[in-house]
Amino acid sequence: TVGTGFLAVTGFVGWVYYKIYQESHPIEQEPQSPVFPTGEKKKTLVILGSGWGAIPLLKSIDTTLYNVILISPRNYFLFTPLLPSVPTGTVDMKSIIEPVRSITRRCKGEVQYLEAEAVDIDPENNTLKVQQSTTVYSGHSNEDSSASHLTKSHEHGLDLITAKVKYDYLVVAIGAQPSTFGLPGVAEHSTFVKEVSDSARIKKSIVDLTEAANMLPENDKERKRLLHIIVCGGGPTGVEAAGEIQDYIDQDLKKWMPEVAHDLRVTLVESQPKVLHTFSPKLVEYTNQIFKDTNINLMTNTRITAVDDSYVTAWHKDSNKTEVIPYGMLIWATGNATRSFTKIVMSKIDAQKNAKRGFLVDEHLRLKGSENIYALGDCTFTKYPPTAQVAFQQGEYLANYFEKLQKLASLKYKIEHESHPTEMLQHRAEKLETKLPKFTYNYMGSLAYIGSEKAVADLAWGSWSNVSAGGNLTFLFWRSAYIYMCLSVKNQVMVCMDWVKVYLFGRDCSRE
Ligand code: FAD
Ligand code: MG
Repeated sequence: TVGTGFLAVTGFVGWVYYKIYQESHPIEQEPQSPVFPTGEKKKTLVILGSGWGAIPLLKSIDTTLYNVILISPRNYFLFTPLLPSVPTGTVDMKSIIEPVRSITRRCKGEVQYLEAEAVDIDPENNTLKVQQSTTVYSGHSNEDSSASHLTKSHEHGLDLITAKVKYDYLVVAIGAQPSTFGLPGVAEHSTFVKEVSDSARIKKSIVDLTEAANMLPENDKERKRLLHIIVCGGGPTGVEAAGEIQDYIDQDLKKWMPEVAHDLRVTLVESQPKVLHTFSPKLVEYTNQIFKDTNINLMTNTRITAVDDSYVTAWHKDSNKTEVIPYGMLIWATGNATRSFTKIVMSKIDAQKNAKRGFLVDEHLRLKGSENIYALGDCTFTKYPPTAQVAFQQGEYLANYFEKLQKLASLKYKIEHESHPTEMLQHRAEKLETKLPKFTYNYMGSLAYIGSEKAVADLAWGSWSNVSAGGNLTFLFWRSAYIYMCLSVKNQVMVCMDWVKVYLFGRDCSRE
């Protein structure tokens, strides 16, 4: 048994080593070309985005079938489910991102990547206008994203380059931006939980606030304000952010700055009657209990109606009373708004003009009113929720769909160019055309971390089981599931190492 154990361990380590080797080395790629060897024109497939929709699409599609161009201002994929763990240092920022080029350089066929943002489109002439981008912004509903109002990069005095890009097929996977409900002050005074730059900001705020408060006497009003963190939004992201910060307070800060940790308070504000409202009532109740135990102050049925630099105005629906609440840091995690490029595309396609919350797509994820533009993920408005789970499945679906579409095109080309096309060929083409796959969503369940090493899970595995669970075991499951879902072995290894590091040495609260 010692022998088999040894074999198993070496086998596993060898496999991990092989995967890591694979991931860190580019492969020889078939170059892009205007035509296939048969003479058929090779079409250009442009993919916008490098998130949960675009990257799984790119990873699954046979890139020798199209000239693929990927365009995104963010030159890495971000594993969003673990982003709330980053501000407190439970997980390191670099552990949950994967460079785009380490993906594009390992596709079978050459893929071009442009670090740019789509800023305009001419659907009649199948042309995009893109602009170089040097910063990743979360963006928000009152302000357009980076490129539309910046034409110079501040760092280098560089004029940002724009370019025209032609496409035969376009896939829009640009996601959404944080919604502020048009509330003034939110964008200026709060931090979102959307991009890694947001977590860096939260981390810096936590250090600043605790150190500033430390210089003030106990019972000081300003000290109290500084040590109040408000999280707005009771969905999984807000709950996880609050839970992680409370963990940091309880598990680390209490050891190293007990006086400050004692006064630090986290409040979660939710406008609905309950948090995590898509989870089963039992789990919502469980979450409430854990929040009570860990001292997270929960305000449900409460709406923030105004935001100032040091206080928010909150309206309690039940008592119809308004309260002014001072805060040191405000974290805004309340859902999605449409990006400006999405609105631009909508304004140019008649069938999309009435769409408000996202693109309207058919069962092939093709934009209604367009022949060759597709969209998926958070930039669409469908019966599916705006989750990574949906975007991922849509990305994989589109990879399969585009492969079939190209097969069909090749068949048709053959039929046209052969002097005596056989009936069999025509039959095959017809069959392929009527059998182009349609998107179906396979819901696997929902998971959320709620703090103090506890998680909640609503699982739907097959039609026969429907499990909902909460607690420490679920936390282990949550961790395993997220490791499993990471898109690269590098990320899997690094996240595990981060967890071990925190287990051994605690979280690091020094400045970066
Ligand atoms: P995104 O992943 O947001 O990708 C959009 C991409 O487009 C980005 O690369 C962006 O840089 C790029 N882009 C933006 N504008 C342009 C432009 N003009 N031109 C070109 N490119 C552009 N979902 C789950 O299922 N489970 C979870 O546990 C979970 N946790 C989450 C935690 C957090 C903190 C957050 C923020 C989200 C979480 N989600 C989760 C939701 C999930 O991340 C989104 O639903 C998912 O990312 C949507 O994928 P997408 O491809 O549509 O958009
Ligand atoms: Mg995407």
